[in-house]
Amino acid sequence: MRDLILGHEPAIRLTLFLGVLALMGLWEAIAPRRPAPLGRWARWPSNLGIVALNTVVVRLLLPTTAVALAMAGEREGWGLLHHFALPGWVTLTLAVVVLDLVVYLQHVMVHAIPVLWRLHRVHHADLHFDVTTGARFHPIEILLSMLIKLAAILVIGPSPEAVVVFEVLLNATAMFNHGNVSLPAALDRWLRWIVVTPDMHRVHHSVEDDETNSNFGFSLPWWDRLFGTYRDQPRGGHAAMTIGIHGWRDPRQVDRLPGMLALPFRGTVTHYTINRRPWAHPEGDHV
Ligand SMILES: [Zn+2]
Ligand SMILES: [Zn+2]
Repeated sequence: MRDLILGHEPAIRLTLFLGVLALMGLWEAIAPRRPAPLGRWARWPSNLGIVALNTVVVRLLLPTTAVALAMAGEREGWGLLHHFALPGWVTLTLAVVVLDLVVYLQHVMVHAIPVLWRLHRVHHADLHFDVTTGARFHPIEILLSMLIKLAAILVIGPSPEAVVVFEVLLNATAMFNHGNVSLPAALDRWLRWIVVTPDMHRVHHSVEDDETNSNFGFSLPWWDRLFGTYRDQPRGGHAAMTIGIHGWRDPRQVDRLPGMLALPFRGTVTHYTINRRPWAHPEGDHV
């Protein structure tokens, strides 16, 4: 089993990515939650183009993959989990849950720190919210995420299988919870105790700062509830809410590949992040 998973890791990941993309794309075409302001032909080439670019950048610039590092860690005994004699399924579950917590904390951090918010704006500037939004991140943010993940693997000491499970789960859930799809309200309420649902994550893509600064989870919904960043629904309702960032509404800037790559280097970060709050002018406009 191990040889099968580790030997075919890139193929497994690519097949799952394309499979979930096709399924979600079909679901979005049959039962969309909101009308799309721009057609797929306008957005998908850019959003999928940045995914392809990121894959190449990571392979070229980083000396190792997460799975290769976990294999080295297992061989050398690096990381906490290698020092406890726990059943395999317990260490696998623990590793996946703790890695997901790291992703949650990283997500809060990229919203809080001005220079990191510049990078993360690329994810939020999409004028629509669909399955491809889930994979669009600036290459520098992807590199930062990879470095944080590699550091977390060194400290936690997950097995290579746990890393594959974590990465595949994160990838699949990110595409699911960015889907422009609707679930019956009762099912959504039930499901969001186990996994972040599209209605839960859509709140995070609102133009309203307080709504964007909530629901940071990508896979597991518990961290938001535990740490007080959970928000049930957007004020304006899912159909009427505006997706994106205030002041960044030109499709050439936010939904075309060259504009997306240049986005972190444009404009100033205003009231959004932690040290840009208009405390001195609480009644001031909240851009
Ligand atoms: Zn975010
Ligand atoms: Zn998102």
